[in-house]
Amino acid sequence: MTPAPDNRTELSVVIPMYNEQEALPALVARLRPALDGTGVRYEVVAVNDGSTDGTSALLRELRGEWSELRVVELRRNSGHQAALTAGLHSAVGAYVASIDADLQDPPEKIAEMLELARRDDLDIVYGVRSDRSTDSGFKRRTAGLYYWLMRRLVGKRVPSQAGDFRLLSREAVDALKALPDQQQVYRLLVPWLGFRSGQVTYHRDERVAGETKYPLSKMIRLAVDSITNFSAAPLRIATWLGVASFFACFGMSIATLAVHLAGHTVPGWTSLFVGMLFIGGIQLICVGLLGEYIGRIYTAVQSRPTYFIGYDSADDGQESANFAAPREPELTEVR
Ligand code: UDP
Ligand code: MG
Repeated sequence: MTPAPDNRTELSVVIPMYNEQEALPALVARLRPALDGTGVRYEVVAVNDGSTDGTSALLRELRGEWSELRVVELRRNSGHQAALTAGLHSAVGAYVASIDADLQDPPEKIAEMLELARRDDLDIVYGVRSDRSTDSGFKRRTAGLYYWLMRRLVGKRVPSQAGDFRLLSREAVDALKALPDQQQVYRLLVPWLGFRSGQVTYHRDERVAGETKYPLSKMIRLAVDSITNFSAAPLRIATWLGVASFFACFGMSIATLAVHLAGHTVPGWTSLFVGMLFIGGIQLICVGLLGEYIGRIYTAVQSRPTYFIGYDSADDGQESANFAAPREPELTEVR
């Protein structure tokens, strides 16, 4: 059971983690003093996204000495955005911040975000990267292209260079929770909500330990989800490709007729073959695009949860310092 929002916890910090055992000690060493320094009552919601390394054991050990640390375990690896969803749905604070586990985003900035949100009565505070010099050239270029495209598709509200380091008010979190979306892409959904927002800039550091958990395949998945969640433009591209190829074929038909009338009908194998390949290629692309959207409709109709919580330390009966063995997990379905 997910606890209901309480009005005593001021701040929840959601951290999705996938195989982060190497980064965890450094994270705690910086996050804890930063949060203690805010002077507000807080909880840290560590969402273990089906890690296969020692993340789970380490979290449970850390929880013994840090009572504000709450451990939410997903049954299997569900992906960064699904883990974020699990965290947002579980968080009880009046403000909810999200941050990566690898210390690329500075935890000290959370206090600044909270202060700004309270002072200016903002519902959203984005963490915006002032530079990405520590990211690889490939990551920088693909990220640049991604944000350029998203600002065109979703609108100028999407701050460029704002990932998933941000602070949300309870109202914004509740608005997100009410959305029926399946494959949420928060960096686009949040600006789309239209709440009052502000931003703090920060320098993006290098990952403190371990390796990126975003291989190219996951990056492509995020990009495809981002585009198809917010735009039917690719389907329109398919239509325009069809229109363009129709006119090209029309021109070619006239040319073919002219050649026929002139009596030179034997040569022409090359143009025929190229034309065939061209049309075949366009058709396959269009069918693929249609498939991508139909797949999405199918997923929406199935309306399966994007994650399953296997264990939540907030459900522990007693707040003992030593972690008790987890109960037989009950199937908690949250959308
Ligand atoms: N992550 C996750 N599930 C995944 C992949 C990543 O929870 O399937 C978490 C990861 O542990 C980290 C955050 O998402 O806290 C961002 O991942 P990472 O830092 O590897 O991405 P990058 O910064 O390289 O884009
Ligand atoms: Mg990272």
